[in-house]
Amino acid sequence: MKTFLCSGCGNVTFSSASPGMGWEHRCEACGGQIHEMPLASRIGDILVAMGYVRKDDVLHALLLQNQGRVERLGEILLNLRVLQQSQLQKALSIQKEVL
Ligand SMILES: [Zn+2]
Repeated sequence: MKTFLCSGCGNVTFSSASPGMGWEHRCEACGGQIHEMPLASRIGDILVAMGYVRKDDVLHALLLQNQGRVERLGEILLNLRVLQQSQLQKALSIQKEVL
């Protein structure tokens, strides 16, 4: 079973079908781009898939975390002002579905 996330509306779907030739990477609800998510997706994976932050921003935040920052990844990104509170809330609710 694989997990797919629509970056348009945040819809999470589960399917055993593999994306392949002829498989439309489009959301049936909104026409948004569909991303296949890794198992046990972390918040950073979701934020990047949704297009809220860049992968570089997540790597930067992870680096700060490794240097001893006690905030959670999402909070560090908020403090870096690359992420908005409403976007973090949305990503957290998506994460509950993906897990
Ligand atoms: Zn959608």
